[in-house]
Amino acid sequence: MLKHYFINKKSDKDPNQVVHDEYCRQRPTVTEALYVGMFNNCSDAIKEAQKEYKHAIVCPKCLCDCKPD
Ligand SMILES: [Zn+2]
Repeated sequence: MLKHYFINKKSDKDPNQVVHDEYCRQRPTVTEALYVGMFNNCSDAIKEAQKEYKHAIVCPKCLCDCKPD
């Protein structure tokens, strides 16, 4: 199922940038988020995110089933 994915902007507190799907409760607010794109699964989303953001990791809440390779 196609979903929109977002990543939070880098902050000084946390160098990791977390990828969320559109339904995540912990999804960053619009001003704190960058749009990654629309994907069928989170593995594709994280791969795409990591092209641009080296420290991209998956959200343990909404993407806990995700197993990026
Ligand atoms: Zn999330």
